[in-house]
Amino acid sequence: KSGFISIIGRPNVGKSTFLNRVIGQKIAIMSDKPQTTRNKVQGVLTTDDAQLIFIDTPGIHKPKHKLGDFMMKIAINTLKEVDLILFMINAEEGYGRGDEFIIEKLKGLTTPVFLVVNKIDQVNPDALLSIIDHYKDLYSFAEIIPISALEGNNIDRLLSQIKDRL
Ligand code: GDP
Ligand code: MG
Repeated sequence: KSGFISIIGRPNVGKSTFLNRVIGQKIAIMSDKPQTTRNKVQGVLTTDDAQLIFIDTPGIHKPKHKLGDFMMKIAINTLKEVDLILFMINAEEGYGRGDEFIIEKLKGLTTPVFLVVNKIDQVNPDALLSIIDHYKDLYSFAEIIPISALEGNNIDRLLSQIKDRL
């Protein structure tokens, strides 16, 4: 099995941290500053039964200027062509306006979308459940998986669900 997987989400939700953990080398730039990942970075995970090609897709956010608009069109086209989209959110921050914009863009696509709720090491179970409940009503996600990219919780489960989809 093999497939292309795009990771989207607001700045700082943990996309690069996740990629670095999964691929096991520093392929994406990590920083506390938003939007340091300027290029589409690919990392390939090869296991005995699958090859997962990850794409760190920048540009899925409300454009502030014309160039941003152009970048976003490229990003949306990328999303149409991949096999699976991981929409990552930050459990610590919950729902925000940036997510509203992304979800509107997802509604025009047929690509399956997993909701990946990251930074679960920072929240209690009740808070996690209420965040999940909120997002469930906004979009029909193919799967909803809570993880901690930093501590490594539930990453194996996410990877096996990704493989099941390809
Ligand atoms: P990106 O902008 O979405 O690529 O986010 P980064 O991967 O650069 O992460 C932004 C910040 O969140 C960094 O300081 C990371 O160490 C931190 N971070 C990422 N994942 C987790 C997590 O699961 N738990 C916690 N506590 N922090 C995380
Ligand atoms: Mg990044």
